[in-house]
Amino acid sequence: MLLALGGGVRRFRSTQLSDFQLCPALAYWRYERGLVPKGPESVHLFFGKVVHEAIHVYHAEGQEAARARIEEAPWDGVEAHRLKTKERALGLFEAYVREVKRHQFEVEATEVEFEWPLTLGVWKGRWDMLARVDGMLYIVQHKTVQSWGYQVAPDLQLEAYYYVGQKVLEEKPRGVLVTLLNVRALDVRWTLRTFMEYELERWEREVEQVMDFYLRCQARGVWPRAAGACRRWWSLCPYHVLCTSDAAEEVAERLFVVDEERRDLEW
Ligand code: SF4
Repeated sequence: MLLALGGGVRRFRSTQLSDFQLCPALAYWRYERGLVPKGPESVHLFFGKVVHEAIHVYHAEGQEAARARIEEAPWDGVEAHRLKTKERALGLFEAYVREVKRHQFEVEATEVEFEWPLTLGVWKGRWDMLARVDGMLYIVQHKTVQSWGYQVAPDLQLEAYYYVGQKVLEEKPRGVLVTLLNVRALDVRWTLRTFMEYELERWEREVEQVMDFYLRCQARGVWPRAAGACRRWWSLCPYHVLCTSDAAEEVAERLFVVDEERRDLEW
């Protein structure tokens, strides 16, 4: 069942709510306005996308096809970065293959889209994979990280992935297997996340509250800025130039383009 809000269906993407939790203004610029900086794609996004795609190609078509996907990606179109290079993407991919080959790994589905109706709206997410590893079923999420210190808890997305898996799949997955692809170490580790019933109930209460705050920001047209979130993952938020300007609309027109897909959340 999908809920209708004010005559329509209010959908929230999981990353949209995560970004909103981080900083409401960030969600405003990114999803309400759909603003994307002009110029080359961020090397961090590009790198993550290429490695993700290579992993999917590997499971569908084999190792050579996946290597070719990395080789042929448009590396010249992104800014140079000391770690996020084609060579390191290949090295990371090989580390992934080594890890997978140590197990019986069967992919059951990739890019699994799902929706979960809550009181205030529909929570929309996507699993990277559903896979059987050594005979047991897992939801698999890939993360390209720069250090092992990457935190997988608390993380509302992983709780939700697990929660939905428990509710919708006939065979209950054992948990969310997070593949940490460490670009610095060129190594791969798996971390298993499972959640207790009380954590899942807490997830539902928290998500409802986040949605409620989102809808109030939207209704009032006020999106608080969270200054502590401006510098994260070693880089400055792309919207900093807007949050610190007294002519934000002019700056937005000059330095950003509108991505309609981001606004309608059809991705
Ligand atoms: S610059 Fe800071 S306050 Fe502005 S959207 Fe980004 S994180 Fe939020």
